[in-house]
Amino acid sequence: MTTEAERKRVLLLLSPLTYRAGAFLSAAARLDLDVAKGVDMPKSLAEYWNQPFGLDFSRPDEATRTIVAQAATTPFDAIISVDDSASILAATASAALNLPHNAPAAALAARDKHVMREQLRAGGVPVPTFRPFLLADDPQEIAGRVDYPCVVKPVLLSGSRGVMRADDAGEFVAAFERLRTMLLAEGVDPARTTVLVEDFIPGVEVALEGLLTDGELRVLALFDKPDPLNGPFFEETIYVTPSRLPAATQEAIAEATAQAASALGLRTGPVHAELRVNARGPWLVEIAGRSIGGRCSTVLEFGAGMTLEELILRHAVGLPLDSLDRPTDAAGTMMIPIPAAGILTGVEGEAEAAATPYVTGIEISAPIGGRIVPLPEGAAYLGFIFARADDPATVEAALREAHAKLHFAIKPEIPLLAGASRLLVSPEVPR
Ligand code: ADP
Ligand code: CA
Repeated sequence: MTTEAERKRVLLLLSPLTYRAGAFLSAAARLDLDVAKGVDMPKSLAEYWNQPFGLDFSRPDEATRTIVAQAATTPFDAIISVDDSASILAATASAALNLPHNAPAAALAARDKHVMREQLRAGGVPVPTFRPFLLADDPQEIAGRVDYPCVVKPVLLSGSRGVMRADDAGEFVAAFERLRTMLLAEGVDPARTTVLVEDFIPGVEVALEGLLTDGELRVLALFDKPDPLNGPFFEETIYVTPSRLPAATQEAIAEATAQAASALGLRTGPVHAELRVNARGPWLVEIAGRSIGGRCSTVLEFGAGMTLEELILRHAVGLPLDSLDRPTDAAGTMMIPIPAAGILTGVEGEAEAAATPYVTGIEISAPIGGRIVPLPEGAAYLGFIFARADDPATVEAALREAHAKLHFAIKPEIPLLAGASRLLVSPEVPR
């Protein structure tokens, strides 16, 4: 039994929308860690609710001061951002308190896709040709200056939001304007907002889950994404591990990821990288100093049943990591795509889908009665299907079979009515 004095104390930075709070909190409980929760909320709200640990993630300097003040009475052994939203705050606060963490500059580079591309290219990592433009630019004029096929993308969003392929000038103009409409609705200043245009990298896509210790990368899991991601939008669906790619290709992927981490200055903790692989080898799509998002980590297990979240917490507070080996079987998940925009009125076939051989669980996360929006504008999935079997092909087939048994009833919204109901039911907070 650990005494109160020996008990390690962790600050978990949580956005209210994260899928992963539960997994981190139960891992912390299993490890008997003392947990403080820093929740993202505006300062006024934190004061109103008398929340000592309401932190405004969009103001990392101010939030860092709050954390430092708190640490003076109850010191932390580690600060962990549960998802992307607090990666910069976790880095600045850790730096201020001298806790082991990636440097703030590395967290920044992993956050902004343009900065990331520049640093990867400078570090000799294979990246596509990229060109930065401003959202205020005239796409008609730019269209002649880019190569096709290309990918148009915002630099600060995630989950493939706003990422679009264009095969010619006409498609490029349409994609650029669609992204502009989307970003203007979020209140950005078009004269200060970068839009990245990259050459389209053909090939298969993989995701690598790794752990850095003093700059050394250990691969925890390599996932294949067996559904082709050729655009025009890039909705992720199936992830299956272990990868079915040849061993030499897998080694080249690990090497490119290690090179990318070092180019950005990522040295400790989890990394999640996405790469595309073709005849010319692996190409970095992106790399972040965090673990896999959504509920995907549910399918991962290490050593004698350790979860990914437990592994990350152990690593962060310096507890022993006995084995990082995955079991020898295969596991996978499907992020259930949103087929159409509208109101989700019901889900059928959940029990039948859950009874599919090798399927270990189904979670429908979209609320019934809620508005759902597909990519490129949308930001969520309908839910997740999990499967486990002896080999990756069986896992993939099980996920597809279960998905085919699910039926989502989506009622289209009449645009005028949709606008009106929004005004009546949920007045937006003025910015
Ligand atoms: P996000 O951070 O929103 O996930 P990404 O840059 O990772 O944005 O892009 C999302 C997806 O779009 C990638 O997983 C990949 O399938 C596709 N994609 C992005 N850039 C390229 C590119 N240059 N070539 C081909 N596909 C790309
Ligand atoms: Ca991505």
